[in-house]
Amino acid sequence: MTYYTSEEYLRRRFEMFGRSCAYCASDPETHKKWHADVSVRLSHAIGLDRCIPVDGAKPRLLDEVRFDGFLRRHYVLETEPTVFMTFYLLVPDHPNGAAMLNPHGHGGAKEACLGFSPDGVTLEHDSFGVELCRRGYYVAAPDARGSGERRERGQQGDGRESQNSHRELLNAYICLGITPIGGMVWDLSRLFDFVASLPDVDPYRIGCAGMSGGGEQTIYFSALDERVALAITSGYFYGFRDALLMQPANCGCNFAPGLYELVDMGDIGAMIAPRPLFIESGVNDRLAGESGIKNVVSQVDVAAAAYENLGARGNIELHVHQGGHVWVGDFMDEFIDRHLS
Ligand SMILES: [Zn+2]
Repeated sequence: MTYYTSEEYLRRRFEMFGRSCAYCASDPETHKKWHADVSVRLSHAIGLDRCIPVDGAKPRLLDEVRFDGFLRRHYVLETEPTVFMTFYLLVPDHPNGAAMLNPHGHGGAKEACLGFSPDGVTLEHDSFGVELCRRGYYVAAPDARGSGERRERGQQGDGRESQNSHRELLNAYICLGITPIGGMVWDLSRLFDFVASLPDVDPYRIGCAGMSGGGEQTIYFSALDERVALAITSGYFYGFRDALLMQPANCGCNFAPGLYELVDMGDIGAMIAPRPLFIESGVNDRLAGESGIKNVVSQVDVAAAAYENLGARGNIELHVHQGGHVWVGDFMDEFIDRHLS
């Protein structure tokens, strides 16, 4: 049978109508104008500007458990009216004044991200977040909308922890002018509000780091909330055409109406400049799409131009490893300590 697919049509549309807000600045002044314009447009595309604040919302402590070197507090916070975000706050025994938000990927939730068993009872391995906490950093790991304790009806239940409701939320949200990634960014900003209010935390030394879907959340959040002092993404800095347009079976939280008409990944990275940005990518990460690591490097080049224009070329780093879609973490500790401690 001959199949008449949409691929070529999509490619052509992407070339014809894509990136109306492509990074185009040549100096700090034009960068500022570009940044102001793209921030408004991207916020609107993902529905961030339509999220509804909750006045005076305070997190409610659900439980706390002591582990070697830190206390784990489990909270719930109302981020929009009737939208509740669950999260863990790892409180270090010896705080150094800095903090890291650590959103998780598409599969799993805050437990898997931090190395806890799915029921949260035992620490199965020392994760990036736990090791960071033992070095003095506060670490806050939320359940994303549609994940963990925030799964919708059809994806709930023990043994189904790796399932999420991101596609279900996408289908429901877009008809209301909002998107899952917009809601996730909003929630991370509310988590930031709380972490910044802690007496042991310097609000100017709070970063965000994540893998895969956690890298996605980190990139959008850091681009749209300028309080984020440092960003680390692993396994998520691909050009949209090969990684998402050509691979539309990816998780629903990747998508937003009109996104490709506005920007590509490198443009979102450029929004983070001049703040420190660490990008980790594997040469065998199939999620990069058919052009592989080239699809990452070309996007890093776009973002790097913004750092160059702002005199901060040393603040963006790309680290390529030989693996696939995995977090490796080489050179991260040094990067974090250099910029946050
Ligand atoms: Zn997702």
